[in-house]
Amino acid sequence: MKKNNCKYIFVVGGVISGVGKGVSTSSIGKILQDRGLKITAIKIDPYINIDAGTMNPTEHGEVFVLSDGYETDQDMGNYERFLGATLTRANYMTTGSVYKTVIEKERNLEYKGKCVQVVPHIPLEIIGRIKEAGRKSRAEVVVIEVGGTVGEYENILFLEAARMMKIKHPEDVIFVLVSYLPVPSKVGEMKTKPTQHSARSLNNAGIQTDIIIARSEFSLDKKRKEKISTFCNVSFSRIISAPDVDSIYDIPINFEKEKLGNTLLKLLGIKKMKNNSQSSRDWKKFVHNINNSKEEIKIAVIGKYFSTGDFVLSDSYISVIEAIKYSAYNLKKKPILNWLNSDDFEKSPRKLKMLEEYDGVLIPGGFGVRGIEGKLRAIKYVREHRIPYFGLCYGLQLAVVEFARNVLKIKKATTQEIDPRAKNLVINVMEEQKDKLEKKDYGGSMRLGSYPTILKEKTIARSVYGKRRISERHRHRYEVNPEYIQKLKSGGLIFSGTSPDRKLMEILELPKETHPFFMATQFHPEFQAHPLNPHPLFTAFIKASIKREEERKEIIEKTKRKENK
Ligand code: GLN
Repeated sequence: MKKNNCKYIFVVGGVISGVGKGVSTSSIGKILQDRGLKITAIKIDPYINIDAGTMNPTEHGEVFVLSDGYETDQDMGNYERFLGATLTRANYMTTGSVYKTVIEKERNLEYKGKCVQVVPHIPLEIIGRIKEAGRKSRAEVVVIEVGGTVGEYENILFLEAARMMKIKHPEDVIFVLVSYLPVPSKVGEMKTKPTQHSARSLNNAGIQTDIIIARSEFSLDKKRKEKISTFCNVSFSRIISAPDVDSIYDIPINFEKEKLGNTLLKLLGIKKMKNNSQSSRDWKKFVHNINNSKEEIKIAVIGKYFSTGDFVLSDSYISVIEAIKYSAYNLKKKPILNWLNSDDFEKSPRKLKMLEEYDGVLIPGGFGVRGIEGKLRAIKYVREHRIPYFGLCYGLQLAVVEFARNVLKIKKATTQEIDPRAKNLVINVMEEQKDKLEKKDYGGSMRLGSYPTILKEKTIARSVYGKRRISERHRHRYEVNPEYIQKLKSGGLIFSGTSPDRKLMEILELPKETHPFFMATQFHPEFQAHPLNPHPLFTAFIKASIKREEERKEIIEKTKRKENK
């Protein structure tokens, strides 16, 4: 391919949201990457928030933290996982962040006295960012997902930017519309009309789509493909049938069955490249494991960001869920994840007994007071009943509080986040955070992104990682209070990972003699777990859970044998 001739694929959504535009974007990137191309992906979110950091997970799903500390949308996690990539802040933008830059530039006289206008200055800033992201990652193809659906007011300036790019570089820019074909239950027939309207809405924005990914419950038949082709102005071979699948990881494989890879290359004017990379073979093996792992292990995830009205939003913990899956499938086990609401343990502590049914218990990150006492009770239960435990971020801080209360007998031990005036703050606010909190400087101000951790010799963490120095992503304001570290250690808690200056406690564990697996991290390992590269700590947790599952099975069989005698 000619140098500096970067190609751009804009992925836009039609009809309704939530039909897999993010996964389609990731899969498009993946199939092109498997053909040997260098790919990067960009997510555009049309809201005013500067980043995703200040949003409640029940509003917008998980906040995915990049290595450079930027707090972004969960789709960025999908891109990183599908592409095995590490993306940067250049790969994410919101309306708010674009406007902020334009206004700052205006204040700095960077527009040289011109009248600064919504059009063209906002689209020009967007175009500049898209190109910069491509340059920075030396990508040959940049896949850009435009948030929202066509016809909305919110994303119109991003579509305008895309249109302007197409005019300037007609050979290098293409469009993919991810649309939805409903099958109304009373009608019983797949309807193409909403997709036709979406394609036309896009026409109103001056854009003709090149490809339509037709999402639906079922595969598209020839008749529907013909209809969409005729009325949306897209040739027959470029209508891609994308029926519902059991696993999102099937999607790149399904796209290839529809010859999407060849179609994209042809449209982009890239010489045909055969799909025969090692990573595509590994991917197929991974998908094979998903479909063929039959033996189950039961994992409980205890959290509070599940319920929004009638909905259960496991989206809030998507990276954690996927990280569990990668490690479990790699060990040929099928993880059954159950969501337990920590509020329930507060209301009726008797429910704690149900934790016995699980092979492992995980407490992910979280914020605030609600549900805390329930989580503390659950941690006490799994510690005392030797059920494998894995705590992430808040899950580490609460494990420390629980240990201080019930092992060290500091009855009033707590975290500053729950009770700022309490006497025994075993978790308190980090020094550099104090000023920020006082000034109400909440956006993008936590300890964010990748920091190194040094692992202590002869610990589970060290043996699992197999090295001394690691780097993991963070998102927190509070830390283990240095004043209590000695006490916690003498009570039997091991801090197996610390910051290089040894001031911040990054990993805690209990020795194998005390507990089969009790581990918690101040960082978020889930952000670096990839399908083809499962995270070592998750794998260790899953291995411990498998062991418990086997032991439980043995006990059940023994009792059965006894009964039969
Ligand atoms: N609320 C805790 C803190 O800010 C934990 C954050 C998290 O779990 N991501 O330190």
